[in-house]
Order: sequence, then C-alpha cells, then structure tokens
Amino acid sequence: MATVSNDVSVGRQTVRRQVNTRARSTNGASDEPASIEILCECGRRLCDDHLQIEIELYQDVLGSPGHYVVTTHHDDDPRHRLVSRHSGFLVLERAAD
Ligand SMILES: [Zn+2]
Repeated sequence: MATVSNDVSVGRQTVRRQVNTRARSTNGASDEPASIEILCECGRRLCDDHLQIEIELYQDVLGSPGHYVVTTHHDDDPRHRLVSRHSGFLVLERAAD
C-alpha cells in the first residue's frame, strides 16, 4: 500500500472541523458576512492553509456526512471523491474504508 507522505489524520480533521464550526458560530451576529475564512480540512499535520467559503455552502458541507473542504492544492487524498470545485478550494467526500 502506498504511504501518504503527509500523514493525513481523520482525528486531526475532526479537530479542525471543531475549530471551523466555532469560527462559523462566532461570525454570526449583526453584519453576517456572505463568506467566512476557515482552515483547510485536509488533515495534514503541517497544513495551516486558510480558505474563503460562502457560509451557505459551508453549512451544506457541515450538513453532509463525510464532506469536507480543502484548498485546491491539497486535494491529493486518495480516499476522497470530488463533490464540487470552487475558486480556491474543493469540496470532497471521504470515501468509505
Ligand atoms: Zn490542507
């Protein structure tokens, strides 16, 4: 089996998702922006990329089991399926093991 050099971790993706969800909830209030900046959810240990995503789209991702968001240059996780391609980021679906 080919080893992924970048040490992708589902556990780390979960932590990242928690951070992103918190960013979403604190961004609400009065002048809610049409998009928010979130962390890339690729799960790489050294990745601290940010991306800009529309709130509605990110809520769709959050509501879709297995879906996550990565920057366009972090789409090489072999276990994913491409859901949709956007400017600066991709929505992926984690494939079943
Ligand atoms: Zn990344």
